[in-house]
Amino acid sequence: MQCDVFVIGAGPAGLMAGIFAAKEGVKVVIADGNTVVGRKLLRTGKGRCNLTHTGNANDFVKAYGQFGRFLKHSLYEFGGDDVRAFFGELNLSTKVEKNGCVYPMTDRATDVARVLQDQARRLGITFLYGKKVVGVEKRPRGFEVTVESKKVESKSLVVATGGVSWPFTGSTGDGFGLAEGFGHQVVAPKAALVRLIAKEEWLVELQGVALENVELTVRTGDKKVKARGAMMFTDDGVGGPVVFDMSRLLADDIAGGAGEIEMFVDMMPDVDAGELNKLLIEKCSSSANKELARVLAEMLPRALVLKLCCWVEPSVTVLAGQLAKGKRKELVHLIKYLPVTVTGTRPIEEATVTRGGVSRENIDRKTMESKLCEGMFFAGEVIDADGPCGGYNLQIAWSTGALAGKSAAKR
Ligand SMILES: Cc1cc2nc3c(=O)[nH]c(=O)nc-3n(C[C@H](O)[C@H](O)[C@H](O)COP(=O)(O)OP(=O)(O)OC[C@H]3O[C@@H](n4cnc5c(N)ncnc54)[C@H](O)[C@@H]3O)c2cc1C
Repeated sequence: MQCDVFVIGAGPAGLMAGIFAAKEGVKVVIADGNTVVGRKLLRTGKGRCNLTHTGNANDFVKAYGQFGRFLKHSLYEFGGDDVRAFFGELNLSTKVEKNGCVYPMTDRATDVARVLQDQARRLGITFLYGKKVVGVEKRPRGFEVTVESKKVESKSLVVATGGVSWPFTGSTGDGFGLAEGFGHQVVAPKAALVRLIAKEEWLVELQGVALENVELTVRTGDKKVKARGAMMFTDDGVGGPVVFDMSRLLADDIAGGAGEIEMFVDMMPDVDAGELNKLLIEKCSSSANKELARVLAEMLPRALVLKLCCWVEPSVTVLAGQLAKGKRKELVHLIKYLPVTVTGTRPIEEATVTRGGVSRENIDRKTMESKLCEGMFFAGEVIDADGPCGGYNLQIAWSTGALAGKSAAKR
């Protein structure tokens, strides 16, 4: 079997690479170890698929932080608006939610996978399902790819094998070994966008308690990082979008052996400590004969309030009017600066994305072609680049996939 562009992986990056290559009129083959396309894609956004985010290329570059410069070119070529237009042309319109996250109008990740697969078929792409690529050899005019027992000759190769998180979806890090075999440096994989483990024993008592809007602050060395959003207490720590974003900001510190990291949770970030103090004075005097816990439960979840009351007052039945000034200040301090000692993350297998992968130094950011192996391209999570929650990781897959596919076809 022969083709012009061989794509390893039918995740979002591989599908987009295949489609963009086929649009250039070349023969494309996509192989995936799974029997269905986009197995991880189907799970994105809790089955709704947060496709991308609103914003122009510069906004995206900023959101990606240290990875922005590398991704810039691919984002200018195929950014968030282009992704929406792409799916719109395939009759899958999109919608923007309050927080700027973009979803398919149907709220179904299955529709995203379906339209990609249909488009790939229309463009004449050949799929090899349920077949793992087990070897790649460089040949004078391209590559010989071994797909189980079958050999395929291809002029170019796109490696879109993903990272190592959620391995049962097929992302088992095969691309890392392959890249290393061709001399690329692979930055050690670490968990990002993952729950944080914390040492406080009381956390388990609050398991399941959710807060819609908190601000997390961490100081590590000379760095102060903050993240805002929804949080949930878990049996061994904290989770939720804001924690996921913080885990990404701390990924390198944690993997680098930072040890215990003190994180402060501001449970009412929209009011400062002085305003909160005044608010408590007002509430406690207007409801002086009500239990303090009841008054506080108007602002925060009841289970959390009971915990706060236990810490500040010996009795949870104390009346709001009896709250002493010193205790009120303690309460304000706890609400604004609840300390949580982070000791690590949940395992990488549970992480939403993998931090690390094929070094950006080894990839030409204008084409996604390897600087070490002519004709080999990389796309998606296999590359050492990741983004925050909110559709930014799929956007990496779409942008780098489109650029890699187009460049591979041109080559
Ligand atoms: C639960 C969950 C929810 C998420 N939700 C969102 C979201 O809403 N928005 C967002 O932006 N991001 C989300 N992400 C992240 C996003 O899914 C990934 O960043 C994205 O799927 C990466 O795409 P990819 O194509 O690079 O890799 P993958 O999706 O991992 O695809 C890689 C493919 O390569 C195949 N493969 C690997 N090795 C081989 C081999 N040797 N031979 C053949 N095939 C092989 C695998 O089977 C797999 O299908 C979520 C992730 C998870 C786990």
